[in-house]
Order: sequence, then C-alpha cells, then structure tokens
Amino acid sequence: MSLLEIHVLGSPVLRTETTPVARVTDDLRRLVDDMFETMHAAQGIGLAAPQVGRLERVAVVEVDREPIVLINPEIVAESGSERAEEGCLSIPDIYGDVDRSARVTVRAMDLDGNVFEREATDLLARAFQHEIDHLHGKLFIDYLSFLKRRGVLARWEDLKEKYPGQRRVLSPASTPSTADGVEPL
Ligand SMILES: [Zn+2]
Repeated sequence: MSLLEIHVLGSPVLRTETTPVARVTDDLRRLVDDMFETMHAAQGIGLAAPQVGRLERVAVVEVDREPIVLINPEIVAESGSERAEEGCLSIPDIYGDVDRSARVTVRAMDLDGNVFEREATDLLARAFQHEIDHLHGKLFIDYLSFLKRRGVLARWEDLKEKYPGQRRVLSPASTPSTADGVEPL
C-alpha cells in the first residue's frame, strides 16, 4: 500500500466527472487499499477517487470503524433534512454548515462485484452524500451561501500557499488538525 497525494481546491480533477467502473480489477483493488491508507493518514472518514487524482467512480467511507467501499454508487432514496458542519480533505482547515438529507439509501457495487444497498442516517448518510458529490465534481462549499462562500474562498487564498501544485502530501506520522472535532471527508 502507499500513501497518495490529495488534490486540493483548485485542482481541476476535483471538478471532473468520473467514469463508471466496468469491472473490479487488481488495479482498482490497489487504488481502494491506497485510498483507505491515505484517508486514515489524513484522519478523514471518507475519500473519493478524484481527491487522489483518479477518475474511477469509487469512494471509500469509514464511520464507526466500518470500512465501506462504494463503486458506482447512487442514491436511490432519501428523506428528511439535517444541517451540520462539514469539512473536506481537499479543502483543509475550512468548515461550513451544509444541509443534507437525513436518511439515504445508496446502491453500489462492492469489491467482489456484487451490487448492494445500504441505508444510512446521521454521519454515515452525510458521508455517503459528500463522497457521491465528489464523484460528480461537486464540493461542499458549493452549498454555502454566496457570502459564506466568498469568505471561504478569501481564506483559501492564504491557505493554498501550503499546497504547491494543488497537492497535499501526507506523511504516515502526520497528525493534521481536526480543530473543532469535525472529521473531514
Ligand atoms: Zn471531500
């Protein structure tokens, strides 16, 4: 396994539509392993392929120590609405309140090529929605009000200096700040 670089806000790959996965290959399995390792090193609870510069339609999520691989995921049912603070591994140190469906059912393929459905609430439901957005070039800051978003982008102008080439390089020992307890996705 190896740690991957995380693309940060401004990298075009984060705004690129992904391509559905036709079949599970060794290459895809390796990517998923690396994504879990990278997500753990960054202390996140979700990571989507575009965040590591790849365009396969695949994401990983881990809430309450349950690793879930989502290949070609879609939301097939959703209800309710819940607002909570959200962060993103591709926009370090930026957080914002986002309204999401409170309950979702996701249909996806697993690493054995089997299609499954999973219902989720709370943080897991939020993680599913955040990662599926990533697979379609969408970021959580897109949901913020015009003024909020302008504030975030102004802060990012300073923060982005830390990420030359719009890449965030992790080390296994690095302990990124999760200052206010929100685990990024
Ligand atoms: Zn994210």
